[in-house]
Formats: sequence, structure tokens, C-alpha cells
Amino acid sequence: MILGRVSQIIIPPDCRSCRTPGTYLCIKCLSKAINPRSANCYRCYWGNDRGQICIGCEIYSYLSGTTVIAHYEGAARDLILGLKNHNDVWAAEVLGAMIARAVLRTRIGFSVVTAIPTSPQRYHERGYNPAEHLARVVARRLGLPYRSLLLRLSIIHQIGQNRTQRLNQIRGAFYAKRHRPGRDRFVLVIDDVLTTGATLEEAARVLRDNGTQLVWGAAVARH
Ligand SMILES: [Zn+2]
Ligand SMILES: [Zn+2]
Repeated sequence: MILGRVSQIIIPPDCRSCRTPGTYLCIKCLSKAINPRSANCYRCYWGNDRGQICIGCEIYSYLSGTTVIAHYEGAARDLILGLKNHNDVWAAEVLGAMIARAVLRTRIGFSVVTAIPTSPQRYHERGYNPAEHLARVVARRLGLPYRSLLLRLSIIHQIGQNRTQRLNQIRGAFYAKRHRPGRDRFVLVIDDVLTTGATLEEAARVLRDNGTQLVWGAAVARH
């Protein structure tokens, strides 16, 4: 089991998208899948170079901004599915490294990196939290500590709902743990996919209610 995991880390498999050997995701497929230069206010799509929430949306948001590096399609989607369904360590490494690079453009001195937690049931089924794997890579790449700051109470199905409905559904799903006033001031929260932003918003609300000054969300892809 451990040996299998080590060889999985050391020997890159073929390109996930076009099967070019010797590299996890070849540069051609990578540049097609990932577009870290397109940043915007996630609520209204106002384009800006860092991904901050615009002035018009500020009063509706607990997040200061979001970093998203891809659309949920093609190779980006394949990597996310590998991470979520097959505990693909290469996917976590590649995607985490690219999120970290894009996050540098925020020029924010984050105190800590954390992840959106999965529900206890989902964690039990999978045995891991894909967002945590990503967040640990991001933290390592940025030279920041990773800490689990949130707990999730139960499974909430959010499929096919708009932002307001999703926000209502997820309200109360998280609570903060290990609150350290004055220390976890600028928090980077990682999730795999951003859909309406309701999950990141609820996480940000809970963290802000517990004394965090600034919460920035980051995800691999916009769905
Ligand atoms: Zn390729
Ligand atoms: Zn906006």
C-alpha cells in the first residue's frame, strides 16, 4: 500500500488528457486547461487582475476575493475527478502548485491555509478530503502553515440550486474550531470547485464571525 503510493508519487503517469508519456499533464494540455490570468469578482464577473470582490458586491460577501485557475472542463475536469474519486496525488500536486502561483498575485500575507471540510459521511466513504490534499500542497508551496479551522456537520446536497437557495441550504453547516484570536487573521480557504460560491461564503461567514479579518477563497475550477 505504502510502496504503491510512493511509486505513484515518483513515477509520473502519461498525460491525463492526450496520453503523451512521462508527464502528468503535458504543457499543451496544461495551457489549454488552465487560465490563471483570468480573474474576476466571482459574483458579477467584473474582471480585475487579482480576483477581488467588486465594490458593488462587497456588501453581499464575506469573502474579500477568489482565485480560480480554470473552467470545469477538459483536462482541469479530469484532474479534479482524479483527485476526488481516485485520491490522485499527482492531480493534487499539479493543481495545488498552480493555485499557489495564482494566489501570489493577491499580494496578501496570509496567516494560514485551510480547506473546506467534507461531511463526516463523505469522509468515511472516501477516507480523505480532496480539498485538504489541495490545501496542504498550496500551503507547502506558499511556505504557510496548513490548519483545519472548520468542521462540517452533515451532508448537504446543493445540486441544481441557485446561489440564494444554496446559501440557505448550507447555512449552519460549518463551525469554527481551534479559534486563535489575533493569529489566524488572514485565511486562505481552499475548495476543489466553485459553483455559486455559497460554500466558500458560508465558510467565510463562520471564520469572520470568529475573529478572522480577511478570508480569501481559492478553487481549481469554476463550474
Ligand atoms: Zn497532453
Ligand atoms: Zn461583483
